[in-house]
Amino acid sequence: MKYRTHTCGELRLSDVGKKVVLSGWVQRIRDLGAVLFVDLRDRYGITQLAFYEENKELLEEAAKLGREFVIMAEGTVTERESKNKKLPTGDIEVKVDKLTVLNASKVPPFTIEDQTDGGEEIRAKYRYLDIRRNPLKNNLIFRSRVTQAVRNYLTEQGFIDIETPYLIKSTPEGARDFVVPSRLHPGQFYALPQSPQTFKQLLMVGGMDKYMQIVKCFRDEDLRADRQPEFTQIDCEMSFVEQEDVLQTFEGLIKHLLKKFHGIDTGDFPRMTFAEAMERYGTDKPDIRFGMELGEITDLVKNKDFKVFSSSEYTAGIAVPEAANFSRKQIDELTKWVQRPQIGAKGLVWVKYNEDGSFKSSVDKFFNEEDFKQWAERMQARPGDLMLVLSGNKEATRKQLGALRMEMGERLGLRKSDEFAPLWVLDFPLLEWDEETGRYHAMHHPFTSPKPEDIHFLETDPGRVRANAYDLVLNGNEIGGGSIRIHDRELQQKMFKLLGFSDEEAQRQFGFLMNAFEYGAPPHGGIALGLDRLVAILAGKESIRDFIAFPKNNAGRDVMIDAPDYISEEQLKELHLRLDLD
Ligand code: ASP
Repeated sequence: MKYRTHTCGELRLSDVGKKVVLSGWVQRIRDLGAVLFVDLRDRYGITQLAFYEENKELLEEAAKLGREFVIMAEGTVTERESKNKKLPTGDIEVKVDKLTVLNASKVPPFTIEDQTDGGEEIRAKYRYLDIRRNPLKNNLIFRSRVTQAVRNYLTEQGFIDIETPYLIKSTPEGARDFVVPSRLHPGQFYALPQSPQTFKQLLMVGGMDKYMQIVKCFRDEDLRADRQPEFTQIDCEMSFVEQEDVLQTFEGLIKHLLKKFHGIDTGDFPRMTFAEAMERYGTDKPDIRFGMELGEITDLVKNKDFKVFSSSEYTAGIAVPEAANFSRKQIDELTKWVQRPQIGAKGLVWVKYNEDGSFKSSVDKFFNEEDFKQWAERMQARPGDLMLVLSGNKEATRKQLGALRMEMGERLGLRKSDEFAPLWVLDFPLLEWDEETGRYHAMHHPFTSPKPEDIHFLETDPGRVRANAYDLVLNGNEIGGGSIRIHDRELQQKMFKLLGFSDEEAQRQFGFLMNAFEYGAPPHGGIALGLDRLVAILAGKESIRDFIAFPKNNAGRDVMIDAPDYISEEQLKELHLRLDLD
């Protein structure tokens, strides 16, 4: 081996006396005059190189090195005089007798240290330098380990890893498609998959029985914090299964990962219907690591003089533990917080349940102690807690309270990153009414099967039909979702009709799938888990960007390669495109 006999993380006391060759990057130089030390770094660790006065020429050469130079050093492993207990290689150093500079380096725009002086923007631009730092490097290594574990587990369960194409036509997952113009077919476009949904179903028709793929998906959505236009899914499909079979299989996977990476044995995952999740937590992805559940008091405030409440469809609150001593200022800030457009509440009513059992509130004029006692019961408030109450339209208010609950959970440190609380959310509505378009949308996607017992509502009361759909939630994040599919042409056709497709449109876009259903499609179902988020949560972190080697920024740009970018007139012409930017 020319470049190295060992890595920079490998040598120990037992190697003393060995002749070795190491290659890596110069992390740090300490020039003490008579002796010069270099910390040499590679992916595996850091080893100290030592240059002594006795070899003057070499010492002078070493003094010319700079940070992030790539070098090769040959020498002898020796025991260090002053050992560094913090480094696994800290007992030894390599006394160098030959130094080769493999490549010089400009001074990096930020320090390559665990605590760097570089801001987010500059680090994104020089992502390859950021990847040299331990935090990002370790994230990528962790991601690789998780991916490997997922693949091994599913393969052992009999799943076959199959690739599906990226140049396809639209698969509706509720976002816009990214499209690719076709040079060979003027005026026609491929779409990049929002998911391999239709292909995995066709693989079931093809008899593959259990499919898996760790696959990129593309969704052109309005950008939200911590969303990526391209992301990775663990995508799966199974034949001859009911909901229960899918839940068991993927509960098994998550249990396996929690055990492997955290030594945690979770019991069986709790299950909750969508309706219950909305009622208790104001969200379909509740973080159940803490309580603070929504307590509804609509009936208790109906016949009182407080108009805001008595005229509202829904009034409810949460009890923030041990927050009765919040200052006026803190409460004002919370009021502003719920009034931000992202939350959208009109105002916030507060009730302090004091330690001595008395109450103090912003609505003392309208309600008495007896009222507040009843409220406290509904919200499971105890003396010392602060009740925060919102009212208005039921759906919106629940969501606002759900958001407030999460915020308070965060602020009070109740969302502990080393605690894992998975759960299944079941029985989602099949359809969602969209005010803007005046139409129903598939809540999951149009291939999701309605619950057989609800099918008769399809014609009379579509909004009431529940789906055979399920979400896997972990620590307040939706990490996966799936469903039992429709495998019958007629029902699929009916579904498209409900969603506002004409028969012709449905046939043109999804005829291939419905045709396949006529050739012996087995009952089937599946799920997809978001790998980026799953890895981040398993690592106890929030941001998925830190677990993607080359992510896009909040505006959907890759600032390192500077994409998206314009293309040449020539390319446009070849693709039969003309720009109209006004
Ligand atoms: N295709 C779905 C998604 O990407 C998952 C599934 O239904 O299996 O969300």
